[in-house]
Amino acid sequence: MRIRSTLGLVSVICFLVFVSSLTAQDLGSQFKKIKGGIYVQSAMETNSNCGVILTQEGVVLVDSGFNPTDSRAVLDAVKKLTPRPIRFLIDTETHPDHTTGHFVFSPPTIIINHTGAGEAMRKDFDPERLNTLMKQSPAMREAAQGYRLVAPQLEYGDKLTLRLGERTIEVLHLKNVHSGADSAIWLPQERVLFAASAMGPRRLNNIRPFVTIQDMLHAIRMMKALNPEIVVPGHGSPGPPSMFDDAERYYAVLLERVGAMARAGKTLDQMKAELKMPEYAAWANQERLPNNIEAAYRAVQGSK
Ligand SMILES: [Zn+2]
Repeated sequence: MRIRSTLGLVSVICFLVFVSSLTAQDLGSQFKKIKGGIYVQSAMETNSNCGVILTQEGVVLVDSGFNPTDSRAVLDAVKKLTPRPIRFLIDTETHPDHTTGHFVFSPPTIIINHTGAGEAMRKDFDPERLNTLMKQSPAMREAAQGYRLVAPQLEYGDKLTLRLGERTIEVLHLKNVHSGADSAIWLPQERVLFAASAMGPRRLNNIRPFVTIQDMLHAIRMMKALNPEIVVPGHGSPGPPSMFDDAERYYAVLLERVGAMARAGKTLDQMKAELKMPEYAAWANQERLPNNIEAAYRAVQGSK
């Protein structure tokens, strides 16, 4: 066990050295170059990631940044990198911390997500969001000028293959993992995977009532089976695919403990009060443990 965790640590350190050696100095510290022509922008570890994929026929973005200031930073970076247009923007989910900045790019950029994304975005739309953003800072006030809801113009079924220039980009539906419509983005030649918010390294996921742990595990196993070299989660640092193993182990431990308590006749409220996950105390978003326990409880009830 100790050897395994040491090996795991060594592989993570090697990975970090590899990624940081490719840091895109000219674009600023928010940007990491993760492969030739592929960048990830995030101003803070907790923020969502925005992917920038250059091709000979134009640029593809993955999500549009955490806030409009991030979207503007991405637009400026793309202008430094290439004279070619941003042709497509693929959403990994529908929530505003991944989609508010769409108005910065579209039109002319075409936005893509799974069927139902537009409906979910219109349903969740908060007309006060613009005012809330403008109050945050003068920079945000400036960046939010022109904000309006822009939903995907193109919705796909199970899978969509985008061929642009030298790149093949597969967009894969992840069912019931996080929002009203979730997509993983897979570049098979480059072995880079954008894993959406189905995957957050070393953090507890916010598991909403319609999400099931079975569906999350299904998505995690499907993505792991693609055999990616670099995984870009919805939030948090890009890293090696061992983050999938960490998540699988976490859910296995959680399901085992909730299952044992259910067999002992404990109620859901008792589980929330008593159940501890000390091995994962260092993971972020501990306030989400009660909703993780609820999700595990639904899973255990469903498997009776
Ligand atoms: Zn989200």
